[in-house]
Amino acid sequence: MHIVVCIKQVPDSAQIRVHPVTNTIMRQGVPAIVNPYDLFALEEALRLKDRFGGRVTMLCMGPPQAEEALRKCISFGATDAILVTDRAFAGADTLATSYALAAAIRRIGQEQSVDLVFTGKQTIDGDTAQVGPGIAKRLGLNLLTYVSKVVEVDLDGRLLKVERRAEGGVQLLQTTLPSLITMLEGTNEMRFASLDDMLRAGRHAVRRWNKDDAGIEDLTKIGLKGSPTVVSKVFGPTPRSQKADLQVVADSTPNDVVLNLLGKLFTTHPQLEEELVERLSA
Ligand SMILES: Cc1cc2nc3c(=O)[nH]c(=O)nc-3n(C[C@H](O)[C@H](O)[C@H](O)COP(=O)(O)OP(=O)(O)OC[C@H]3O[C@@H](n4cnc5c(N)ncnc54)[C@H](O)[C@@H]3O)c2cc1C
Repeated sequence: MHIVVCIKQVPDSAQIRVHPVTNTIMRQGVPAIVNPYDLFALEEALRLKDRFGGRVTMLCMGPPQAEEALRKCISFGATDAILVTDRAFAGADTLATSYALAAAIRRIGQEQSVDLVFTGKQTIDGDTAQVGPGIAKRLGLNLLTYVSKVVEVDLDGRLLKVERRAEGGVQLLQTTLPSLITMLEGTNEMRFASLDDMLRAGRHAVRRWNKDDAGIEDLTKIGLKGSPTVVSKVFGPTPRSQKADLQVVADSTPNDVVLNLLGKLFTTHPQLEEELVERLSA
């Protein structure tokens, strides 16, 4: 089984700040990490490799320093890693990113055909959740989004069954391979890296592909040229002045809790009490 897992190196958003005057993102000194959602995709792919054998190829488009993120994934047990890196990719929006990644996956498939592609649900910096579906569309793969569990893979029958979390419940979906899964967060627990894999990661030659190696055919579809999206403004949310009100309810009846909450609500919003009284007496 050959699985490709796409990961993005992102700044640790817990440490990002927006400049109060220029409203630009302050990245200086912010450590780069593997997009946390992508680790759930990697773990699910590794579990499939444990069951069926085969290869897990990591794929990342980013600057040269993103190699570190790929090496981290090798230390968890991935087989191989490819960094798609070229100045021509700079300034890519989600359209251009999915175009470049789709071309690279096509090229990977020429070395060994690809059964399954994984992406995270979304990134913690761009946050659009568009890249996975974009790749699936460009490659004609069956798209399964918000997957919480891979239930069954039948390699001979080319069938795949997954659980997908949807509003109000869980869907059980079946489709055919090859497919692309966008993996939901919190659905599995990332394994610890073994000593062997950590040593292998240190030695591993991460392959670097430029635009030609990645098989980019149309240069107008990558980088800034291929990116119609315009970021018109970046700003931080206004800090809230109110603080959360903690209620200890251990010894209270549900009635007491509701009455207490209503009492507090009516104190801060007296018009609500008047409206409620009006409605009840109407
Ligand atoms: C006008 C414009 C200019 C931009 N310029 C730059 C820039 O110069 N430099 C820059 O870093 N960003 C830039 N960005 C941000 C860039 O568009 C996004 O980071 C990128 O397209 C991915 O979108 P996302 O983060 O929303 O990913 P999502 O769609 O939320 O990601 C979903 C999943 O797709 C996969 N994925 C996403 N991106 C990658 C990747 N690069 N490699 C492998 N897998 C991936 C991951 O598995 C991820 O979990 C720019 C955006 C715009 C709109």
